[in-house]
Amino acid sequence: MNAPDQGMRMHWLRERGQHEVFCGLTGIMWLHRKMQDAFFLIVGSRTCAHLMQSAAGVMIFAEPRFATAIIEERDLAGLADAHEELDRVATALIERRPDIGLLFLVGSCPSEVIKLDLSRAAQRLDQRFAKRLRVLAYSGSGIETSFTQGEDACLAALVPQMPQAKPSDPPNLLVVGTLADVVEDQMRRHFKALGIVRVDFFPGRRGMDLAAIGPQTRVLLAQPFLGETLRLLQARAAKHVPASFPLGVEGSLAWYEAAAQAFDIAKAHQQSVLLPLADRARLAMQKHRQTLRGKKVFFFPDSQLEPALARFLYQEMEMQLTEVGTPYLHAAIMQAELDALPADICMSEGQDVDRQLDRCIAAAVDLAVCGLGLANPLEAKGISTKWSIELVFTPIQGFEQSADLAALFSRPLQRRERLS
Ligand code: SF4
Repeated sequence: MNAPDQGMRMHWLRERGQHEVFCGLTGIMWLHRKMQDAFFLIVGSRTCAHLMQSAAGVMIFAEPRFATAIIEERDLAGLADAHEELDRVATALIERRPDIGLLFLVGSCPSEVIKLDLSRAAQRLDQRFAKRLRVLAYSGSGIETSFTQGEDACLAALVPQMPQAKPSDPPNLLVVGTLADVVEDQMRRHFKALGIVRVDFFPGRRGMDLAAIGPQTRVLLAQPFLGETLRLLQARAAKHVPASFPLGVEGSLAWYEAAAQAFDIAKAHQQSVLLPLADRARLAMQKHRQTLRGKKVFFFPDSQLEPALARFLYQEMEMQLTEVGTPYLHAAIMQAELDALPADICMSEGQDVDRQLDRCIAAAVDLAVCGLGLANPLEAKGISTKWSIELVFTPIQGFEQSADLAALFSRPLQRRERLS
């Protein structure tokens, strides 16, 4: 990690102990909702299938556009040709499902242990079914990653498929990160009102609807956990527009302003478009501030959204930050968020879960933002919790969702108040 200026002033804890996170397979939950013609075929074990089932159970909107090709003991023992088996399963799937336009082969720990080369398998299937659909591969494995990195790996696999923009093409804005359709529609309207007309969202509603990119492309991240995708876009000469994330009123304002500035939109016009939206959203958030103001919040590292959410709760909800944990900090992406955090807070990167639980309990916090596995023990200690995964699959971005975002934090506190 390269600590940025503000990061240098903060108290940083770097821990490399036991950690409690889901793996990148989890990203399929929201990716398959967005790309409506994509199918995710996990090449994994029964453990991977169980993870997906329990994650899908939490998220009731799950549809059968993902499945697990189970690696059996015969495959692990090298008794079966795993490539042949995979071709058989994938071919049966493609023949049965004409609605699939893009098939992802998703690697897992077991597929990596037996060194099953899914990129090669994807190339082979892609050529065989070239007239019918596209086949790509990425890895969702990993106990050393965070669950949001699955989206990064998936989008990174799509970047090489993006066409090259012609030198004569006008500048375009590429918004990167999975957003709910309703949020995408609102953002399109606001960018149009600002005067930014060539706007593409990545990923789009159809997996292979990919924008052309080149030196005239400005990349605005809507999610902070897309470091590899950003790196690949920059390698294609696209320019990153550094900004806060569109969480809450101030984050959304800064996010739209950064885009407007990149397209030389006059300040007065920016304000005429954005300030009425900001005023309306501030009004809607007021009642949540009354619940949250002065309460203590602790972030366990889980999604990489933590510094941006902490900024929102501190700056807009007036909460007290005790510790802000993040599994990994991409300093260049997070700079604007770190700049808006108080200089004296404790930030942590990585995890040593037992020590962190002790710190959280000792701090007697009101609310902990954490992974599913830590919620019950914390609730039993009298600490209200918010599952961080909810903040990834709920529409929370933009002015219109600011009050909903605040409600996600105020509701657990109100519930506990009612119970006591
Ligand atoms: S990919 Fe690895 S960490 Fe994820 S469910 Fe499968 S075995 Fe577990």
